[in-house]
Amino acid sequence: MPLPPWKRAVIKVGSNLIAPDGGALSTRYLLGIARFIADARADGRELVLVSSGAVAAGRAALGIAPGQRGDVVARQALAAVGQVRMMEAWSKLLDCPCAQVLLTHADIGHRRRFVNAKNTLRELLALGALPVVNENDSVAIDELKLGDNDNLAAHVAVLVEADLLLILSDVDGLFDADPRHLATAQLIERVVNIDASIHALAGGVGSSQGTGGMRTKIEAAEKAARRGIATVIANGRKAEVLASLARGQNPGTLFCAMATAVSAKAHWLKHALPAQGTVIVDAGAARALRERGASLLPPGVIDVRGHFRAGDAVDMVAIDSGGERHVARGISQYDASELLRIRGHTSQQIAALLGYVGSAVVVHRDDLVLL
Ligand code: GLU
Repeated sequence: MPLPPWKRAVIKVGSNLIAPDGGALSTRYLLGIARFIADARADGRELVLVSSGAVAAGRAALGIAPGQRGDVVARQALAAVGQVRMMEAWSKLLDCPCAQVLLTHADIGHRRRFVNAKNTLRELLALGALPVVNENDSVAIDELKLGDNDNLAAHVAVLVEADLLLILSDVDGLFDADPRHLATAQLIERVVNIDASIHALAGGVGSSQGTGGMRTKIEAAEKAARRGIATVIANGRKAEVLASLARGQNPGTLFCAMATAVSAKAHWLKHALPAQGTVIVDAGAARALRERGASLLPPGVIDVRGHFRAGDAVDMVAIDSGGERHVARGISQYDASELLRIRGHTSQQIAALLGYVGSAVVVHRDDLVLL
């Protein structure tokens, strides 16, 4: 079965592939995954890696046996030791600059930090780097954590607006029964609706090392599907699985994106997110937004109303002989007070006006919807 066409994917690699059998970090399975990533990049695709294994690698480095020191503070310290080793392993295997990005629940849940993380990831991709994302286990205590990298990967897929979420683990995919107990269990190749019966199938099929099992993988697939992103769960230990992914075939379970979800971001911007202020734009900017799908730049800003902060939604309004017309709604990269200082100026002048180099755009085209 073919994969849906994709240009940008988030690929999540679980602890069982990085530190197999509960042991030290090993490149045994990572080599094939690194080759897959390199080939896809050479093909002009963009990838973001979400890699687990920090805690497992830290454990091995310090000689602490799996199962020992499972308390929060120990895991935080182990993650700090292992994160370096994990990054080192990927950097050695990949012939491109790897960028370490550590996120917590707070970074995803807080709008300004969400936008900051989104900007950084977007810039890393534009620069040709490979973002390697993990949860910031060393600082996040349990209540502040996303907890498992399957759900983190789904959040990252939404952040970078990926077309595909690829969850690689040591299981072949989702089965219609537990394959460890029932030899006749069949792999489900395609899931269109993630309903209660699908969640029910997840029970029990878990891995021993990471925090996730099949349950968190299905939660992740559901999050992604709602935002118009397809998910594949496949076995990253098998060379033929990676070969088939590279050929654009689905070797595991494909969870389809929800058809109605494609415009979820537009819906969110239009209906769910109240605008905190208004940016009055000139006729040229209004045309560029409408006709060219452009970003809003400082020279096109005439005035600002309201006391919004960077990361808030704003309405972009044009004034002509017919009165005020709403052109678009989107997320501002600047506070209202900053915008008042840079309006009408070129992007190159921002640094001198604000005393720091901010975003070149006021509202990025990916963060706006026409009204
Ligand atoms: N963030 C954890 C680690 O790097 C893994 C969490 C998970 O595998 O779900 O060790």
